[in-house]
Amino acid sequence: MFRSMPKTELHMHLDGAVEVKTAGELIAAGAAPRAVKETGLSAPLSYETLYRRLVAERPLATQAELLKYYDLPIALLQSEEALKRVTDELLRAKAADNVRYCEIRYAPQLHCVEGMSVRRVAESVAGAARRACARYNIRARLIVVGMRSHSHESNTDMLYSALEADTYGMIGGADLAGPEAADPDPASQKPFLDEARKLGLGVTLHCGELPGSAGTIRRCVDLIAPDRIAHGSGAADDEGLCRLLSERGIQLDLCPTSNIQAGLYKDYTEFPAAALHKRGVPISISTDSPVISGLSLSEEYHRMAIQGRLSAADIWKINLNSSDRAFADDSVKTALKEEFLSWAKDVSELY
Ligand SMILES: [Zn+2]
Repeated sequence: MFRSMPKTELHMHLDGAVEVKTAGELIAAGAAPRAVKETGLSAPLSYETLYRRLVAERPLATQAELLKYYDLPIALLQSEEALKRVTDELLRAKAADNVRYCEIRYAPQLHCVEGMSVRRVAESVAGAARRACARYNIRARLIVVGMRSHSHESNTDMLYSALEADTYGMIGGADLAGPEAADPDPASQKPFLDEARKLGLGVTLHCGELPGSAGTIRRCVDLIAPDRIAHGSGAADDEGLCRLLSERGIQLDLCPTSNIQAGLYKDYTEFPAAALHKRGVPISISTDSPVISGLSLSEEYHRMAIQGRLSAADIWKINLNSSDRAFADDSVKTALKEEFLSWAKDVSELY
């Protein structure tokens, strides 16, 4: 049922979506020789070796260990060809899983290591996404990510360059990401996110995925007033904060498997999606990084239904309502809603 369900996915990263076969072919074509050498790998690389480098199979001890899985994909995504190919393959995979609308996040600055400009990166991703949407009959928007490791000036410059290159209007939002523990206060990045809002973009930021981070989330809400928060599951510890998120309609874009792999939660039973949903906090469920986390959105929904204390009806409601907070035009949201409701009318398990 979850496979055939038309779905919305709002939280996933392009650099977490480099397929194993694609990585092998990019390396064989000479991409990222230094990164390949640094990882201690030597060519020719078997599928199994690359799989172990790209897919986090078992839960890890820390978030830092999970973040290491992004090193090789980022090193490989330093050319227009690689960016276009991976964008196309991600949308193809999502369409095959019956995701009808998705948002792809990427941090342009991370793809400029070998000399590409932000403008070329943004042109490549937006062009490839637009073509793939037509080819695979799926809708998508892009979210450009500023990095906590860069200054707000640098992130704002990046945003302007990316928007100038986005002639088809694929960019719908701006996000902030990067290791949170070193710099949890978003104050230093407020000018970047304020500028994004002035430019008419949806505003989100990675915040509060670490347990005990309700205080950080509250500070983000007060200071930034985001439309949505990436992760933010730490809010479940604070009833007052849950009320605030519910009243303001600030959605948490949760990624249960990714957080479990990062060692933040023991298992799906402990992950607080059901608690947040019951308290009326708007949530969505996503894969974060479909290849690194090794799963489709249907599988993630299935895990939450089997182990995560959410019923199929809950998951359907979450899926349907999260589409309302997509960073897309109202016409897109209306079309999605019509399609979703028309599919659901004969599925008795959802009511
Ligand atoms: Zn994320």
